[in-house]
Amino acid sequence: MDVKFTNDDLAFRDEVRTFFEEQFDFDLAKRVLNDKSGDYKSAIVAWQKKLYEKGWIAPGWPVEYGGTGWTITQRYIFECERGRLGIPDAVPFGLKMVGPVIYTFGNEQQKEKFLPRILSSDDWWCQGYSEPGAGSDLASLQTSAELEGENYIVNGQKVWTTFAQFADWIFCLVRTSKEIRKQQGISFLLIDMKSPGVSVKPIITIDGKHSLNEVLFENVKVPIENLIGEQDKGWTYAKALLIHERAGIAEVADSRSNLNSLKLHAAAEISGGAPILADPVFQMRLSDVETELMALEYTELRALASMAEGGMPGPESSFLKIKGTEIRQAISELALQLVAYYGGALEGNLDPGALGHDFASKARVDYMYGRAASIYGGSNEVQRNVIAKMVLGV
Ligand SMILES: Cc1cc2nc3c(=O)[nH]c(=O)nc-3n(C[C@H](O)[C@H](O)[C@H](O)COP(=O)(O)OP(=O)(O)OC[C@H]3O[C@@H](n4cnc5c(N)ncnc54)[C@H](O)[C@@H]3O)c2cc1C
Repeated sequence: MDVKFTNDDLAFRDEVRTFFEEQFDFDLAKRVLNDKSGDYKSAIVAWQKKLYEKGWIAPGWPVEYGGTGWTITQRYIFECERGRLGIPDAVPFGLKMVGPVIYTFGNEQQKEKFLPRILSSDDWWCQGYSEPGAGSDLASLQTSAELEGENYIVNGQKVWTTFAQFADWIFCLVRTSKEIRKQQGISFLLIDMKSPGVSVKPIITIDGKHSLNEVLFENVKVPIENLIGEQDKGWTYAKALLIHERAGIAEVADSRSNLNSLKLHAAAEISGGAPILADPVFQMRLSDVETELMALEYTELRALASMAEGGMPGPESSFLKIKGTEIRQAISELALQLVAYYGGALEGNLDPGALGHDFASKARVDYMYGRAASIYGGSNEVQRNVIAKMVLGV
């Protein structure tokens, strides 16, 4: 593939850069990061709406459904500029997960009803896959959906449901048959979170934030028209979604941005009379992770190029997931080493700048939440099994 920039690409880069610099509210983003109440939905939706109005909210979607039609180089430029400025990626559950499932496997009514509201961020989605007894072994899920007339009656529990507290809709894997092989008795159902019988319980994570939840279903009535594709065939649609999820999980642009900030802070931070960046051990760790990131970036570009030529992301997305999350964790460990005790001192309600380290709070949050990166989207151990089976054939 060719990633040399043409004059048109450079003009596009300038347009993206100007748009981001003028439209993204950097002050608001900083306040949101330090906001313990966790009420950041409105800030996220406001930014996503700006991207939507510009026509840039869904670069990965086919043009007919609202995608940008960008070349692979343009998508790369967009991601690089976003990462360089530290702008968060759009929330994936609608745009990168259920959206592609609906335009690939849904019927015309479902496309018309759901896709426009996903693009405009008028509907917030969450993912109801995992259950207390079904994470890595997802096909063991027990949440049941029994057809009664024109409705499914759903009973059961989902867990680790990110952002369910904000969600208008949840896409769920439910068991519709116990008679056949466990992967075959699963269906893919879209459930309105306002339906009677749905309740959400918060789970507070080690970083002190509320993004995770339990979602409980008690005799929830779901109209049959909310079934994607065929009953009992949901496993096929669920797997397609997981491959997309893992392909997008490498977070190269975000790691690049975090690495750049790390270098800046390490150059400014003095220890023993010299900047930490000059410390040979720190330098060695930094160059190790930077080399790995560069290699990952090219692997991701190869995967994007094959997708641009009509290919589907394959088992290589498991590789992107493993390396991407390991690199993210390695960078966050170096950042925490750099801020040392200041990361802990900011646990209270101190002004983040008061101790002279306004980056310490982000370092702590990134480090703690980053522990989860090798678990969600399918744990890294399980991804190694996928590579062993699908790539190495063992
Ligand atoms: C921050 C966060 C956000 C999440 N968000 C969502 C969400 O929005 N929606 C959703 O549905 N789920 C979500 N999850 C759940 C996530 O997908 C599961 O946690 C994950 O699939 C692992 O399942 P489990 O937690 O049940 O662990 P288990 O499957 O019980 O695994 C426990 C340990 O055993 C290892 N293990 C299990 N099986 C094997 C095997 N065959 N070979 C080798 N090792 C194995 C695992 O790697 C892990 O270390 C989220 C999780 C986290 C941490």
